Amino acid sequence: MNTVFPANFPGYEIETYRHMAVWSLFGLIFSIIVHELAHAVIAEYYNMPILSIRLFIFGGVAEFKGRPSHPRGEFFMAIAGPIMSFFLALFFWATHIVLSQNFGVGPTSQSFQYLGYLNFWLAVFNLIPAFPLDGGRALRAAVWHKKKNLVLATRYASNLGEIFTYLIMGYACYRLSFFDDIIGALWIGLMGIFMLGAGHYAVRQTESWSLLEGQDVRDFISADFVSVSPDLTLNDFVEKYVYKYYQQNFPVVDGQKLVGLIDVHKIMQQDRKRWSWTHVASQMTTLDEIYTVDIASPASEALDMMGRLNINTLMVTQEKKLVGMLNRSDITNYLAIMMKLERGKIVKNSI
Ligand SMILES: [Zn+2]
Repeated sequence: MNTVFPANFPGYEIETYRHMAVWSLFGLIFSIIVHELAHAVIAEYYNMPILSIRLFIFGGVAEFKGRPSHPRGEFFMAIAGPIMSFFLALFFWATHIVLSQNFGVGPTSQSFQYLGYLNFWLAVFNLIPAFPLDGGRALRAAVWHKKKNLVLATRYASNLGEIFTYLIMGYACYRLSFFDDIIGALWIGLMGIFMLGAGHYAVRQTESWSLLEGQDVRDFISADFVSVSPDLTLNDFVEKYVYKYYQQNFPVVDGQKLVGLIDVHKIMQQDRKRWSWTHVASQMTTLDEIYTVDIASPASEALDMMGRLNINTLMVTQEKKLVGMLNRSDITNYLAIMMKLERGKIVKNSI
């Protein structure tokens, strides 16, 4: 913003430009938050709770719990943000008009004018039908509604998103080679990488949902598992348990009570010299950090949960009692095989 203000609104002191930039930045952050809130309110209305919102260069990306339940909700949720940005653009623009008519054109009214522009372009940019931008989401919802198939719709939207991404990356290369616009190219490059990743992820995710259709956590749990005592040294733990039972994780049980979970992978990263005097208790994930899932929950929900929390194991409970463990790899290995053998089933299971 260092050059934006002097170029567009000439004739002020450096200090004034600085104020304009700071206030506009606040205004922009406020605008993005309001844009995201609009998504969240509509999502809530359609019963699609939002888990988190990651603010991104040109707005934010909302993460949802589980899969979108119906195309209509997804569509209105997607366009709510850009519509809000249009309203904000109008609001800032109107404020600029009112201020400049009553008090004359000055830095304050021009900051509002600038925010009006920003919100307008925020709305337009987000409406580009390139998944995972809002426009791409809305497009996916429309295709989903028409074809009655979320997997096909996601592939379609993601492919379009990919084409768009390569186009803007091409533009970034052009800016870089002809105008030495390193910062611009870097931003666009980052955004492109993000969009490609998010698009591919969404396709994989919907394919998994389709393949896991109708399957519960029950179908994947390991019910015969071995637990360990918190007082064991890591040496004993590795010798007597890890090499013997090939589990990725061991529940830590004190007497009858589950007190934690120890991850073999985490132990292997430790300095071996410390193994003889370090105990399981100090290396385990404690009970309050362990995540549980009910045995009757859909398998896809459990997989999403592990992905989101970046963990590999969930404790499986039935009526609050520990009945087994669910490893991420048990589901992903199954999915890897099914993706090879049952590609047709992915699309046939119209979710
Ligand atoms: Zn949005």
